[in-house]
Amino acid sequence: MDYNPDNIFAKILRKEIPCDQVFENDFALAFKDINPQAPIHVLVIPKGDYVSMADFTAAAPDELIAGFFAAVGKVAKLLDLEKNGYRILANSGDDAHQEVPHLHIHIFGGRPLGPMLTRL
Ligand code: AMP
Repeated sequence: MDYNPDNIFAKILRKEIPCDQVFENDFALAFKDINPQAPIHVLVIPKGDYVSMADFTAAAPDELIAGFFAAVGKVAKLLDLEKNGYRILANSGDDAHQEVPHLHIHIFGGRPLGPMLTRL
């Protein structure tokens, strides 16, 4: 899928629309999900035009890939989730119900999160 620069996270990255920011560096921006599914629900997005994990890991420079994943770990620590635990998740494509076509990692925490997937 081609990257659409009009997606909402691209607008947040360009500071055209606001977000509830929790972290930013040269590689990533992290902000609270507008519709939280857990007491702590933060999204971490890379600074670059990437739709999915496959797209990102194939096309992004190594420094950005490393910086982005390091930022996810930093944010989990910043949110004080190391002790009780947390879940990270990235939806890609239709079967995963990806709504926003800019790669994002969800960080969930703040309560026991239950099993990973609902059973079929
Ligand atoms: P996904 O289904 O993985 O694409 O998840 C997209 C997530 O983005 C959802 O959890 C939405 O609640 C969240 N979201 C959409 N728009 C915004 C926004 N403007 N600020 C923060 N989170 C948003």
